[in-house]
Formats: sequence, structure tokens, C-alpha cells
Amino acid sequence: MVSEQKSADVSFESLLRIFTVPEGPDSTLTQIEAKLSQNLNEFLREHIVAEEKPLKEIEKSFSNPAIPEEPQFVSDHTEHLLDTLVAHSVHTSSPSFIGHMTSALPYFLMPLSKIMIALNQNLVKVETSKAFTPLERQVLGMLHRLIYNDSESFYSQWMHSAQHSLGAFCSGGTVANITALWVARNNVLRADGDFNGVEKEGLFKAMLHYGYKGLAVLVSERGHYSLKKAADVLGIGQEGLISVKTDADNRLCPKDLKTKIAELKEQSIKPIAVVGVAGTTETGNIDPLEEMAAICQAEHCHFHVDAAWGGATLMSNHYRHLLRGIEHADSVTIDAHKQLYIPMGAGMVLFKKPDVMNSIEHHAQYILRKGSKDLGSRTLEGSRSGMAMLVYAAMHIISRPGYELLINQGIDKAKQFAELISKQPDFELVSEPELCLLTYRYIPEAVKCALEKANSADKAELNNLVNELTKFIQKKQRETGKSFVSRTRLNPNQWDRMAVIVFRVVLANPLTSFDILESVIEEQRDIASQAPKLLGRIMDLTNQIIHS
Ligand SMILES: *Cc1c(COP(=O)(O)O)cnc(C)c1O
Repeated sequence: MVSEQKSADVSFESLLRIFTVPEGPDSTLTQIEAKLSQNLNEFLREHIVAEEKPLKEIEKSFSNPAIPEEPQFVSDHTEHLLDTLVAHSVHTSSPSFIGHMTSALPYFLMPLSKIMIALNQNLVKVETSKAFTPLERQVLGMLHRLIYNDSESFYSQWMHSAQHSLGAFCSGGTVANITALWVARNNVLRADGDFNGVEKEGLFKAMLHYGYKGLAVLVSERGHYSLKKAADVLGIGQEGLISVKTDADNRLCPKDLKTKIAELKEQSIKPIAVVGVAGTTETGNIDPLEEMAAICQAEHCHFHVDAAWGGATLMSNHYRHLLRGIEHADSVTIDAHKQLYIPMGAGMVLFKKPDVMNSIEHHAQYILRKGSKDLGSRTLEGSRSGMAMLVYAAMHIISRPGYELLINQGIDKAKQFAELISKQPDFELVSEPELCLLTYRYIPEAVKCALEKANSADKAELNNLVNELTKFIQKKQRETGKSFVSRTRLNPNQWDRMAVIVFRVVLANPLTSFDILESVIEEQRDIASQAPKLLGRIMDLTNQIIHS
């Protein structure tokens, strides 16, 4: 919308106003705020356009690198944002957008986040955060207790101790994983004799001192890519991230883990940590944590569990047994911005023992003095927002049983959806839901039969064509804008580990009804029929195989 071009002027008075006076009752921003408060979903539905605009087109609105010389009125700029940005953003809270781990938010977080932003506390040090520091320490204590369930005296002794931390609050699972492996690395390469520790002398001298030829982190083939980044920044190298085989259900094979550890030892390569995945990003499966913990204990190796997505399952008394063994982990990553329904930018890493984080302690003269309760002395990040407040609020407002209902409905719905898919002759469930995530694809019955019967060359060719079709359907569905599922590539055992492209669905939004799931399937079937050429090639090859 183009409004009347009155220009704002640069004056100190008007600058003072933007720091102190709210926008008038008729201003665009005030109206938006009111609409947001009345009905969030309606606002988003009205303002996010459903049909996809190509990114190339959108880029044109964001192509001027010059910082404006003339100030804009807030209302005019808000209109601009609505047209260019909001309209072409992703409706993450739509009940039919079931492809991502980024989900709908409970409404109360919007006004609360305003308080957080207005206060603008910096959690790096007590001086700029005051009550936010003990609050964040309590939040870490809550998550720690959820995982490890230590005694009351444990928490009263350690939760607020200046010399200890039960974990670190950070921007997300990536930083949480890096922090866990950083702690593990520094504990392995700790000060010893005349060696002052890797944090002082660096990796090269550490390796010379300990006589290692390399370092390694072991994780299943389904490990998250953030671990590669971690291996890179910690000087382990991406080749030091060792892939352990998975079974038919995408869970790490303990036998292969033992073999891989033995091979590393033979080469004098030191494993600094084994990572168990509790809820893989692609299939939502959980590694055999108990067995892995036992192996790590025998090897005196740090056991980290990446429960960035699946960790919230611990809130459910009914399903927490799926993560059995997590309580033996030396460290655990949990993202609050995934299944704890908190806005983006809320990850946590928890450590079983309150003193292990001391291996990454840093102090500075002007802040983070020794003996202070500053959280910044044991976090990778420096300045951080008061995001923990939103986790704290959600824990109180939703409560553990409330979260349990949310977690249970997600898993139960995924099971229902899996059943629905299994009943369709022209769909195939590729990975069963263990948590609220499943994968599947569209594949007509005859094609499935042909794929089972085909020789290996035909099999590969037919499978590639079906992969093309899956990609087409997923893309078209996204562009049409009614619903959204994501896609990924798996190597399922049922298809001799061929690369199979699948739809991936995450069912966390409580507003996603069974009707919506039925219509997602209908829409996909319908889109498939809109690719007659591709479908024709698939059917030709299918007939050729069946009649050969
Ligand atoms: C999402 C995810 C991560 C990364 O978390 P970010 O918050 O995106 O940094 C790591 N591990 C797993 C298993 C995840 O699902």
C-alpha cells in the first residue's frame, strides 16, 4: 500500500519520541498490535499470502544496500513490512503446515516476550540481569531434574552455586552440542604434569603431550549436521566425526559402536565423546541410550545425548520410557524452541555433574570475576537475552501435565496418521513414528509390485522416477500454499538401502486435526495426477517390469 508521502524529518526531538512515546491509537502499528491480540491466527491468515512467490522475486524487495538518508514514519514502514516481509513469510503456526520442527506458539508468549524485550536484560553477567540470573539457573535446574531427577539437596546445593553450573542456556541445539563437546574435549585434554591443558596450550601441544594421533566423536549415520560444525570448530575435524551404522529403525547399532571404538584405539585416535540421538531430525527415532551409556562407561568416554527435538518427551510420564538411559548421559541437549513450544532462540545443554563445566570457565577483569554468579563465565555465547523467562513462564502456565498432554497428542496423532497411510493402496509408510514424526511417500500399488520384482538396474531407475515424483508433489504442495510437508532422503532397509525421497511430517501443533491429515493425503494424490508425463514414464517402466 502506498500512503501519502509525507516525510519524517531527522530531529533530536523525534528521536526522543521514539524512545519514550508509544504510537498513537490510530497508527498502523497500534492497530496491528490490537489485531494480533484479538486473533493471532486470523491475523496471520490475512497477512501471509498463501501462494508462493519465487525467492528471486522477493529478493527484488531487498536489493538496496544503501542505508536510508531519510527517516520513515513508523506507520509507513509498518505497511512496507506487511507487504514485503510478513506477506511472504512462512505460516509456521498453521495447523496444515506439518513439515517442520518449528511449531505454533501458545499465545501468552507474545505479550510476555514484549516484557522480555522491554526489560532488555543481558544474562552474561548479574550486573545487567539481576533476578534473571537466578531465574535462568532455576530453569536449568528444572530441565536437569527432568532428566536426572537428583535429590532436593542436590539442587539446593548446586543450582545457585557460583562455582558450578548445571548447564548452559543458549541460542539453540547447535550451540548446545558445541558446548557439550567443548566440555568433553577440554576434560579429555586437561592439564596434566607440565602440560597446562588444551584451553591454554592449544590442540597441537595437547596431542603431543598425550600422544594421540587424532580425536574423534562417534554418532550414528542419522546424527544432526550441527555435530559436523562442532567437530570443525573444536579442531577435531569433520573426518573425526565417525559414523556408526544404524539398524532398520534408524537406531545406532551398539555392536558397530564397539567395533568403531576399537578401530580408533588401534590408530591412537582418542574418542572424546559418543553422541546418542534421542529423536533423529529426519525420522524421530531414539538410539539405544542404555546400551550406549554402558559402552561409554566401560570406555571412560563422555556420553552426550542430542535430545534437541525429542527431549521434551520426558515431560510425558506415559512416553518418557522411550528415552530410558538418558539419565546416564554426561550431558544432554534440549531445544526449548522445538517441542517445548518456545519462540526461536532457546536451547539448553545440561550436565550430569555440576563441576564438569569448569573445564571451559573463562574470566575477565571487568566482568565474569571469579566467585561471581555470572552465567557468562561458562557459556560460549556472550551477551544473551532473557529468553529463559519464556521457558520459565511456559513451565508454570502449561505445567508438566499440560506438556504431557501436548506430547501425547502429537505421538498419538502420528500413530493415527501412520495407520491412515498404511490403509492407502497408493501410499507407503517409510518410517514408523516412534515420536510425533513419520515419513512416507506416494507410490501406486502396481509401481510398488514392480519395484519389488525388478532387477537391480530397473529397480534403481524406477526408484529414481518415483523420487522425482515425490519431489514434484512436495514442491507443488508447498507452492500452492494450502498445506506443507517437508522432504528428506533416507536409505530404508525395506528397499535395500536405496536412496528414497520421502515426505516428512512433524505433528506437534495441537490444532492439526485428523481431517487436515486426510486432506493432505488427498491433495498429494491430486498433485500426483498433475504430472501426467512423469507418471506416464513411471507406469511404462512398471508395465515393462511386470510383463517381463
Ligand atoms: C534441531 C536439532 C539440532 C540443532 O538445533 P538448532 O536449534 O537448530 O541449532 C541438533 N540436533 C537435533 C537432533 C535437532 O533436531
